[in-house]
Amino acid sequence: MSKLIQIDGQEGGGQMLRTALSLAMITGQPFRMTNIRGKRPKPGLMRQHLTCVRAAVEISDGTADGAEIGSTELVFRAGKVRGGDHRFAIGTAGSTGLLFQTLLPALLHADGASTLRLEGGTHNPLAPPFEFLDHVFLPAIRRMGADATISLLETGFAPAGGGIMEAVIQPSRKLSPVEFHDRGELRSTNIRVPVRHLSLDIAGRILDSALATLPCEDASIERREPGPGRGVTCLVSATFDHVNELTSALGEMGVTAEAVGHRAAKSMRNHIQSGLPVGRWLADQLLLPMALAGGGSFTTGSLDSHVATNISVIGKFLPVKFQIDSIERGRNLIRVHE
Ligand code: ATP
Repeated sequence: MSKLIQIDGQEGGGQMLRTALSLAMITGQPFRMTNIRGKRPKPGLMRQHLTCVRAAVEISDGTADGAEIGSTELVFRAGKVRGGDHRFAIGTAGSTGLLFQTLLPALLHADGASTLRLEGGTHNPLAPPFEFLDHVFLPAIRRMGADATISLLETGFAPAGGGIMEAVIQPSRKLSPVEFHDRGELRSTNIRVPVRHLSLDIAGRILDSALATLPCEDASIERREPGPGRGVTCLVSATFDHVNELTSALGEMGVTAEAVGHRAAKSMRNHIQSGLPVGRWLADQLLLPMALAGGGSFTTGSLDSHVATNISVIGKFLPVKFQIDSIERGRNLIRVHE
């Protein structure tokens, strides 16, 4: 039986747990994680993390000790990953996108095709909105040979939730190493403001503010009614020849409509001006697929703490090395090799 891998989750967030679950399912190595989300205001497993654990148990015929709300310690052992049709409901507005990213790597290694139906939030703070997965993350990992498509059946704005996304995943050969150093030409940009059960005046102010920050011909408000709860978000997407970007900001109580639009558009303006191929979110999300490919490299901007914590978990399961070189102020080259 494989040795139990010990991981201290103190320094990171839910991502350390999700990466460990993905890799335990793929490699068959069990792990014990202690101090889960140790420094977060509410440490331990929250509903969305628990759903990731339960979903991992189900698709891999595995076991989990400590799978309870608030638990700061978990032991997880995977069995064999099963393709097929799987449905999981988070039960809150927890992020369906993060649940999808937990299950995807394992299902790419399954014995057959899978469909996933995931219910919860599709537009959350501090998580990839559905459109980021569709426009940025999936095209990037398709270049590595992954075969997965997603569709949005119902928008679920946090904190109401009630969103539904579906995924179709075909098992892939081993992912291939890919380099993301040149994003190519900027082909198009667009701004979308999905809104539900809020006045169109709010959505209009968000859009005007985004346009004032990043002028763009293709800009529109999208009413997402009927549906559960209320919410609004600003999505700014850019299509380049080789690697896309999408920045976003979710409407929140206490934040003006103008600030929401400005924040999403300013992030995109900065990204376009930077010339960088890989933005801050995609950077930490590429590490696991690249490690599974056994190679690859990319250029990105300043590194946030997710990069270091994710690398530390990956290194416990896979014999890969990450080399990070600062090439000039604010630019980093990340290389993965076996
Ligand atoms: P915690 O509450 O423990 O901080 P969490 O489970 O919400 O954790 P994190 O560990 O913070 O998760 O990981 C969040 C993930 O969501 C990261 O992979 C990050 O790249 C991604 N992410 C956050 N915001 C965005 C965004 N606006 N667009 C795309 N991806 C995002």
